[in-house]
Amino acid sequence: MKFKENRIHYFSFDQENIIIDINSGLVHSVSTLVYEFVDQWRQSGCELAAVPSLLYWQKNSGESADPSELQEIASEINEMIRDGSLMSEAPELEGFRMPEDHVVKALCLHVAHDCNLRCRYCFAGTGAFGGDRSLMSYEVGKAALDFLFDASGKRQHIEVDYFGGEPLMNFDVVKKLVLYGRDESKRRGKVLKQTLTTNGVLLAGEILDFLNREDVALVLSLDGRKEVHDRMRPSANDKGSYDVIMPHLHAAAASRQWDNYYVRGTFTRYNKDFFEDIRHMLDAGFDLVSEEPVVAPPEEPYAFKEEDLPELYEQYEKLARFYIERQKAGKPFLFFHFNLDLDRGPCLPKRLSGCGAGREYLAVAPEGTLYPCHQFVGNPDFAVGHVRSGITKPEIGKIFGEAHVLEKEKCRNCWARFYCSGGCHANAWNFNKDLKKPYDLGCELEKKRLECAMWIQVKQQDLQD
Ligand code: SF4
Ligand code: SF4
Repeated sequence: MKFKENRIHYFSFDQENIIIDINSGLVHSVSTLVYEFVDQWRQSGCELAAVPSLLYWQKNSGESADPSELQEIASEINEMIRDGSLMSEAPELEGFRMPEDHVVKALCLHVAHDCNLRCRYCFAGTGAFGGDRSLMSYEVGKAALDFLFDASGKRQHIEVDYFGGEPLMNFDVVKKLVLYGRDESKRRGKVLKQTLTTNGVLLAGEILDFLNREDVALVLSLDGRKEVHDRMRPSANDKGSYDVIMPHLHAAAASRQWDNYYVRGTFTRYNKDFFEDIRHMLDAGFDLVSEEPVVAPPEEPYAFKEEDLPELYEQYEKLARFYIERQKAGKPFLFFHFNLDLDRGPCLPKRLSGCGAGREYLAVAPEGTLYPCHQFVGNPDFAVGHVRSGITKPEIGKIFGEAHVLEKEKCRNCWARFYCSGGCHANAWNFNKDLKKPYDLGCELEKKRLECAMWIQVKQQDLQD
């Protein structure tokens, strides 16, 4: 299968004219004249391989550009096409199949289906995952880690995320599992990265000391400004949690020299000006941040609507400019979605299938059932096995493996296909009940973030030159 159309994507932002060669991943920054030339050419609907003749350009543009300059542009574009940096051929993907021999690389352990907050947008149904509140036992957790060690085969680097609900509500078990994971990984010659995702309420004292000592990476939940955070993340008695968690998060990041942590927030229709929330995080000293758009049923008042998109785009643009300003000022920060691997690092299957849910990445419910990812936990139709018996329904993993960009009609001709890898399976399922139909609003935001990341790459190159 070849991508016959749509080999380039181009956009203009803040005096930069950018052309992306989709198949090679090359990002070109070009003059306005070249940009307009390319625009004319693409709009003309000419054959992809043929640069339009100079005459065509002159006839249609209605501009009086210097003919020798136009000639130069035409040869420049021709040269780029010849050397494969523009309009490059799509990889030959006829008969492409996801490799069958994958191993499990990462597990998300739901150590607590319970929570001390009642976040309004919580996909886990305020921490209980639509069922009884429950905690994972040490025995189940240990069996899960053993499953990961075994199912990762010869792979050396593997990962586990202690997740919930709020995993620190089951800290005794987390502690034992972290120690077991540390010792057992050494014994088996593996490198186990351990991460804990927390709302920060209990993150202090001995708990923090232990997590620091054991080098457990932290994902810290913070939505941003106090009023924004408190509105969506109240405690069980309906009080905002900002004043409790903020000192904890700050102390936690500082205690590990602002390293090995991530602050992660969610923005909703209530804070469409989410750039201010990211700036709030940065002002508080955090420099490894991410802010995700809420994914919620359309009837929820905080769910995004299509009409919100222009405002959200503006916020990403503001953030991109700020990203460069801070770099120039010697105060860089990292925003997860701008941290793109534009060098096409991951191998093709990875670029086509993204997160690896259901195959390389699995989630474990408190009683040990395995699911394709944390967002599917509790949905019996997606149970793929159990930590004690292993994967008993490999056909589900196969379905996830087959839901890659080549199999999704909308993705096949999308310029972002090799970067976004076909979007989130869980969002596709939740919105369209079809793993092969991406969530539309998510696509639009993803493409905007990618453009911003590419613009940043061009600006960074300018800074280096
Ligand atoms: S999921 Fe959306 S943005 Fe991503 S490749 Fe598919 S259509 Fe494009
Ligand atoms: S399916 Fe979506 S939520 Fe689940 S791991 Fe993949 S990207 Fe994340």
